[in-house]
Amino acid sequence: MNMNHHVGLRGSILNPLSVDRCQWLPEGLLVYDRAGKILYCGPNKKIPGLKYKLLALAGKNVIIPGLIDCHSHLSQFDAIGQTGFTLLDWLKNHIYPAEVCLKDKNNAENTSQRYFQSLLADGVTFSVLYTNFKTGVLAARRQAEKSGIRAIIGYTLMDRAVPGYLKQNPAKTIAECRALSGLFKKSGNGRLYFSLNPRFAPACTPGYLKRIGQLAQKEDLYIQTHLSENLFEVRAVKKAFPKIKTYAEVYDRFGLLTGKTLLAHCIHLSKAERELVMKRGCGVVHCPSSNLFLHSGRFPLEHWENYPRLALGSDIAAGPSFSMLDVMRDGYYANIQKLSGLFHMATLGAAQTLGLGDNLGNLAQGKQADFVVLKADDARFSSADDVLSRIIFRSGQVEIKKVLIAGQEVWPQPYKNDGQP
Ligand SMILES: [Zn+2]
Repeated sequence: MNMNHHVGLRGSILNPLSVDRCQWLPEGLLVYDRAGKILYCGPNKKIPGLKYKLLALAGKNVIIPGLIDCHSHLSQFDAIGQTGFTLLDWLKNHIYPAEVCLKDKNNAENTSQRYFQSLLADGVTFSVLYTNFKTGVLAARRQAEKSGIRAIIGYTLMDRAVPGYLKQNPAKTIAECRALSGLFKKSGNGRLYFSLNPRFAPACTPGYLKRIGQLAQKEDLYIQTHLSENLFEVRAVKKAFPKIKTYAEVYDRFGLLTGKTLLAHCIHLSKAERELVMKRGCGVVHCPSSNLFLHSGRFPLEHWENYPRLALGSDIAAGPSFSMLDVMRDGYYANIQKLSGLFHMATLGAAQTLGLGDNLGNLAQGKQADFVVLKADDARFSSADDVLSRIIFRSGQVEIKKVLIAGQEVWPQPYKNDGQP
């Protein structure tokens, strides 16, 4: 194949357009250039002036945009399925001992490699994650680059109410984060971002939160944290910050509620707290599988229905599955809603939550060709809802044939970086 040719794919295409609109093209065509930019997505027909080489695909297929997981913990990979507790005891008994393993360079490399391969195998092309220690960030960055995946990577920041082996010296860690931020900005494949990830308010002293907020503002960084996941956690916040009225206000006091903040859970917020989060324009990440697993409570979707920055997260390891299709299914169990809405929260809505909606999230012309090819040999679909119902509620029977990022195959073929962003 001439390497300068555009590439075309024929197949059925499912393309999210908004919360309640999903385009279904039974006989579709997707064309992208060698730099991985989409040139055409629409009905399969001859397009005057558009020449391309067809990518050979056997059988019938459904093409969907790459799935985006907006909240996950890489360093908890080996603790998936550890049962018996709700949030605070689960952290103590299963999670802190798992996270400390990332201090070892070999463990960090090995865990990161397995984590990204698991995501790609499930069609996730963008992972917003927490790891632990500087070693963990460097390993995640290296392995993410090798795999070709897109990611926002930060390490969990905490200096109190956690075991001594995870407690940090704020001055040292902030200096490390500043250096890591510079490293991510100066070099890399253009697919990775560094973030600041305070674990949650009770695990950070006021002084630490203040420094994190200042660094985020100075370096224009994403912030990831948890907000109001569990009622015992909410009580712990009241105890740790007795002079501040609400949990959301704690983060706001230290400059941590910004347009680049991603708040996981947001289950038990008061009306005033929700209004504050909306006013600051933070991303809200609903993690239904995790909420069910840890019996944390139900995310009240009814209060967020028209909010434009709403996404889904697996919350590995509290959520047991890497498949965003499984997370969508659990989202339906948490709240009756349209399947197109759930699909949107793991694609276009997720990209918009990250502020990257102009380039990612669906198969619109001009965006990056991040997509997943699903096998659909024996399937007959009549509508977008029909396809969504099949892939969400029978995800175990969905075979993922290929995953591509910027038009380059990243799964099952190993990724070779040739400079595309
Ligand atoms: Zn989490």
